[in-house]
Amino acid sequence: MKVAVLAGDGIGPEIVAQAVKVLRALARGGLKLELEEAPFGGAGFDAHGDPLPETTLKLAKAADAVLCGAVGGPKYDALPRPQRPEQGILRLRKALGLFANLRPAVLYPELVGASTLKPEVVSGLDVMIVRELTGDIYFGEPRGRRANARNEREGYDTMLYSEPEIRRIAGVGFAAAMKRGRKLCSVDKENVLETSRFWREIVNDVAKQYPQVALSHMYVDNAAMQLVRAPKQFDVIVTGNLFGDILSDEASMLTGSIGMLPSASLDAGGKGLYEPAHGSAPDIAGKNVANPLATILSSAMMLRYTFNQDEWAYRIEAAVKSVLAQGLRTADIHEAGARKVGTSEMGDAVVAAL
Ligand code: NAD
Repeated sequence: MKVAVLAGDGIGPEIVAQAVKVLRALARGGLKLELEEAPFGGAGFDAHGDPLPETTLKLAKAADAVLCGAVGGPKYDALPRPQRPEQGILRLRKALGLFANLRPAVLYPELVGASTLKPEVVSGLDVMIVRELTGDIYFGEPRGRRANARNEREGYDTMLYSEPEIRRIAGVGFAAAMKRGRKLCSVDKENVLETSRFWREIVNDVAKQYPQVALSHMYVDNAAMQLVRAPKQFDVIVTGNLFGDILSDEASMLTGSIGMLPSASLDAGGKGLYEPAHGSAPDIAGKNVANPLATILSSAMMLRYTFNQDEWAYRIEAAVKSVLAQGLRTADIHEAGARKVGTSEMGDAVVAAL
């Protein structure tokens, strides 16, 4: 099991170092894992004049999974667009054919105070949003500007999903549900959109292959409402690019702490890119205060979704729960009575808990 480790910029190297520490501890315990690091983002530009250097891309393609920190920072903001660190990540996602984005939102009981919702509404929350990444109105053609019949200017986009695109993302949704609570909610706007009517038809067809999963459908406006009204009703949500973009950000904020949120982007063969949902946080880079748990939890997702090593993934998640229960907190999730720790101390605590 080969992993390309791309730490990136800002807090990237600090938080990725903690995830690597955790993975190496598991390797000492018998997990067969090979890790190789390469420069990426601003660091890639500094080393090779390209945010996604040839050698880094080669390594990422050859690996079974990619573990990323984050990229970007003020130092690179004035660069021409192709050299910007964020372009490196977009190019890498494209080169690897990543089409499914998995974003779990878990609220640990110890952090219930960080959510803006009432404790009884969110305590114990554990939702997974599966968002399609490469289709929908974000990529549909035609798009652009034109003049209408009254010679007024207008802008337009095309919402579009092909049957294979819907089948493969629905497959990821059902597979994720099988690994969790076996409940899948497909979100669309079937009452208005032709694309959604087709989406629902295909999802219902894919469902025949997963009789163990309870499938439901919900309109996106209702889903947005239900996520803040009664979010614990959901196990896995599967949806298109546009609705998923909005709902995954909404769901992630239910937990209140950006430093706790992992994510995965998968290709058709289960290969994945795993990264925290947050950015490179230049404001706190190099200070040993960043929360490494989102990155550590991303490595747990990697073990579960690319390597099918549920047992090892569970060990990492249990270790994270255990350090939180011990009262250890980085600055972003700190509250009165807890013990404030730095980035590396948090990583060490997770390793100790393993
Ligand atoms: P950000 O997520 O980096 O930071 C937002 C706020 O959250 C900051 O106050 C930061 O200190 C805090 N924060 C983020 N992660 C944290 C952590 N692990 N622990 C504690 N606090 C944390 O978003 P931003 O400030 O909008 O962007 C900063 C840079 O990151 C930009 O260059 C942006 O382009 C880049 N970015 C990269 C990615 C990526 O690599 N996938 C994603 C988003 C933003």
